Amino acid sequence: MYQVPVASVAKSLTRKDSEADGMPAAHEILPATSPRPRASLRLIATSDLHASLMPYDYRADRPNANLGLGAIALQIAEARGEARNCLLFDNGDFLQGNPLADYAATTRRRRAHPVITAFNTLGYDAATLGNHEFDYGLRFLSGVLADASFPVVSANVATRLGKSASRDETLVPPFAILRRQIIDHDGHAHLLRIGVIGFAPPQIAEWDRNTPEGSIQTRDILAAARAWLPRLRACGADIIVALAHSGIGETDPEEGSENAATALAALPEIDALVAGHSHRVFPGTDFPASPAIDPVRGRLAGKPAVMPGHSANHVGIIDLQIERFTCGPRRWRVVDASARIGQRSADRALSTPALHQALAPDHRATLAWSRRQLGETAVALHSHFATIAPSAALSLIAEAKIDHIRVALAGTRWAGLPLLSSASPFRAGGRGGPENFTEVPAGPLRMRNLSDLYPFPNTLVTLLLTGAEVADWLERATAVFHQIAPGSVDAPLRDDAVPSFVFETIPQLSYAIDLSQPPRFDGQGSLVNPEARRITGLCHGGHPLAATDRFLLVTNNHRAGRARLQDPAARQKVVFTDGARVQSVFSAHVQRKGIVGAPPERNWHFLPMPGTMATFPVGPGAAPYLADIASYRPEPLARDEEGFTHYRLHL
Ligand code: MN
Ligand code: MG
Repeated sequence: MYQVPVASVAKSLTRKDSEADGMPAAHEILPATSPRPRASLRLIATSDLHASLMPYDYRADRPNANLGLGAIALQIAEARGEARNCLLFDNGDFLQGNPLADYAATTRRRRAHPVITAFNTLGYDAATLGNHEFDYGLRFLSGVLADASFPVVSANVATRLGKSASRDETLVPPFAILRRQIIDHDGHAHLLRIGVIGFAPPQIAEWDRNTPEGSIQTRDILAAARAWLPRLRACGADIIVALAHSGIGETDPEEGSENAATALAALPEIDALVAGHSHRVFPGTDFPASPAIDPVRGRLAGKPAVMPGHSANHVGIIDLQIERFTCGPRRWRVVDASARIGQRSADRALSTPALHQALAPDHRATLAWSRRQLGETAVALHSHFATIAPSAALSLIAEAKIDHIRVALAGTRWAGLPLLSSASPFRAGGRGGPENFTEVPAGPLRMRNLSDLYPFPNTLVTLLLTGAEVADWLERATAVFHQIAPGSVDAPLRDDAVPSFVFETIPQLSYAIDLSQPPRFDGQGSLVNPEARRITGLCHGGHPLAATDRFLLVTNNHRAGRARLQDPAARQKVVFTDGARVQSVFSAHVQRKGIVGAPPERNWHFLPMPGTMATFPVGPGAAPYLADIASYRPEPLARDEEGFTHYRLHL
């Protein structure tokens, strides 16, 4: 086994402090005649770690050497070992995503948050906030960040917005200037000031509107960048790195865009950029080439950029060649750059004793917490076919939500309205890979299963909707399917570009989905085909829904926020929210009932398309459950390199 003592990984850069400094020291003024010093500077970045730290699958309760930050610590250590001058960054979405995170967020601890412990141990230089840092409220977040021994920056998340972006009261500092001693190619030392600025998707103001302890406000990423970048330069930043928890996106995005990394990279002050949020890999084949995007060399708008996947499956490495060119406020410039992605590999498993030792108490506590039994399920709860057939797992989540709201609304003026409850699969293959499915066998239900069935700390939100709005809610869900031409053979059914959580089903309604129609809404929820309808025969209690009927829909804060962003004109009415988390409501439901789970009612189906066959990717764990989709007469066709077996379904 290859051993790298993480704590002793030589930091080639000598830390000064992270405060902005004044003018360059006198000894650094460069004689005009001498050749310009050159140095290399390596930037290493992780993004969207989602609390994946240890080589352990807590949901399945078994070790997995392929998981966690430790699995790419070898790449990080090697990348550091090769470079004289090196900085390590994280790009956000580190606090949420697995039972370790759930444990850390819901249990009182005296220790630092395990993710911060990991970052401190590996010597991260700076980080930014992603959308999921806000999942547990602001008080939790500020407590977590208090233990970080590195700056955490975000320029467009504010506790109060000012008249202009530069007057915003940002939640954390908008930027930091890291002062580091670097060694040039001739072995001479120089002081380099690296400006680090961070950005998060402005949508968090909507997504996390109903989380505890009030809300934050956000500013358009580019507006914030334009306001703060000159300030960063004025503070003496020689090189500026943008940590953008944002997808790659267009050169000229709409105001408030979630994916603004390309446009950000085009700003003249930015020298290098880390993108994230969409969990893709860049440079690489995830992105087609365009004038602004060079997926081979790793350039966005000509600047070196990386997007390092998610859950520590990749690490981004940017190498800058810098040259000292002036004695002015900016003394160094980038003269050459390269960007690449390092991939973890289980066969080069690395022991990272310092990291694992530092995390040992949290690991043990998470194991104990995640093994606690809540009750029992009478049937297997899985997501293998949750987008193509009714699912016992989704029905159970919907039932738990509706039970909570029924009690909460008893005796109020809303009590008489029909209650609907939606649920969607969060782990259902797709970009997460063939292992990315929920699977709980019949038998004991434990905390770790809860994190599997409902991995997000969303809260319940109850909306008042008309029959027409309910129909559109389901239309939005069907954006996960491609349009299937009648009579066609083996066209792919699932559009992997649309995340599975978009597929909200409502077990209290019955309906059919007509795949021969184009989607009425796209994956973002925008109306794209106003004439099209995929939902047909929509009924409640056996009666067709009238457009003006009124319903209460229990959904979550994330979906409600999305809907509000998509259609602000709808004046969506939030009837009730008590901040209860779906996870807590679910665990209370299981503990109250003791035994839960039943075969799902067949409340929805695809409208039959005789003679039409489509393909659907199935993970290796699905074999025991194929009977659930027997009506499609599934036939295995081929296994792809990722490990999905593509089945032919007879529609
Ligand atoms: Mn993420
Ligand atoms: Mg994100």
